[in-house]
Amino acid sequence: MYDFSKDPRFKGIEKFDRKVWLSSPTTHGDEQKWVDEAIQTNWVSTVGQNINEVEKQIAEYLSIPYAVGLSSGTAALHLAIRLAGERLYGAAKVGHGTLEGHKVFCSDMTFDATVNPVAYEGGEAVFIDTEEDTWNMDPKALEKAFEIYPEVRLVILAHLYGTPGKIDDIRRIADKHGALIVEDAAESLGATYKGIQTGTFGDYSIISFNGNKIITGSSGGMLLTKNRTDADKARKWSTQSREDAPWYQHEELGYNYRMSNIIAGVVRGQINYIDEHISQKKAIYERYKKGLADLPVKMNPFDGENSNPNFWLSCMLIDSDAMSSFVRGEMDQLWQTEPGKSSPGEILAAIIQFNAEGRPIWKPMHMQPIYRSHAFITRNGSGRGISNAYISGQSAVDIGADIFRRGLCLPSDNKMRRETQDKVIEIIHRCFE
Ligand SMILES: *Cc1c(COP(=O)(O)O)cnc(C)c1O
Repeated sequence: MYDFSKDPRFKGIEKFDRKVWLSSPTTHGDEQKWVDEAIQTNWVSTVGQNINEVEKQIAEYLSIPYAVGLSSGTAALHLAIRLAGERLYGAAKVGHGTLEGHKVFCSDMTFDATVNPVAYEGGEAVFIDTEEDTWNMDPKALEKAFEIYPEVRLVILAHLYGTPGKIDDIRRIADKHGALIVEDAAESLGATYKGIQTGTFGDYSIISFNGNKIITGSSGGMLLTKNRTDADKARKWSTQSREDAPWYQHEELGYNYRMSNIIAGVVRGQINYIDEHISQKKAIYERYKKGLADLPVKMNPFDGENSNPNFWLSCMLIDSDAMSSFVRGEMDQLWQTEPGKSSPGEILAAIIQFNAEGRPIWKPMHMQPIYRSHAFITRNGSGRGISNAYISGQSAVDIGADIFRRGLCLPSDNKMRRETQDKVIEIIHRCFE
């Protein structure tokens, strides 16, 4: 392993005493009260006041009629996609998914939890390339995808790193083709687009309370919808689809996906801090932006006219001509130092050695071995056959692979002190010396 402590460029930089996290949970004490109350009153299962309250408070915060508390964002995505599949293609027979034989257009630059539930339902994800303005689904590539596959009726859209995508354009295109939208707002809770909260734009939307998100329940998630019947159905499916009978009676396939009242207690303690967490994350983003302004890099972009991101993760992108030699294989990578240049490989290795945590940009879905046989659509049509060009050291042709190649996520923990962040900024500068 490269030893940065022996590299003269890093002279005088000491390791951080305490690990600096990418994004760790931030609790405030209120969580304890609601968890204790659940235990003292013996409401520790999947029914109780905490669940009722968080469903009500999140629905109010987002201005959406119905929020259904579930065990995770992934569970919420599964039920959202199943609801959409049933509405589009009818209920599936037991042992079958609602999307069998159907393609679904999906964000390409996202966490795999966004797209895996398409496979749970037997559907086939088709990945849509990313645009450079917000690092989210490219409406032009989506248009192209509808030209190629006009029969598709479902679009799954994620807002990466807390930055709203081009929601209006995507909604217009989906409507034109009679398609539904499932919106994955797992990373973007509290972010708004034209003053409206993300998590309210989909026909079905979801948020997550996973430990690293803007607020957490330690785990947990929610399905969000404007339709009461759908909310009731999701609640029923999430509790094993029990019918209203004196015994266990089942007419539909069920899941054990309901939120626990203990988890809900943690969420309940966190809700009042969403806006505080966002302003801390925003300050971190702005400090990076200022601190890195003299380097050949850019911060992850957003549409400043229409959107207010929640700034969940601060990311940076190295200018193409400031990239030092850097190659990635399937599971490993090699980088070299070059004067005046750097690479995500070098910067992340440096950050780690000084006891801070960064992360590569989420590797696009079309580059994942599990989905390599799936279609991938760019503005120019099929993006297959070009996206591994970066391996040979050329710049990538599709946007997602290019951002993956040149970008990285910076330590974005909202408890990070100003001096700590200044030192991270200094380490990045030294990488470019
Ligand atoms: C975290 C995350 C999820 C999954 O949420 P869990 O609560 O961890 O299951 C889904 N999509 C995206 C984009 C995420 O970041």
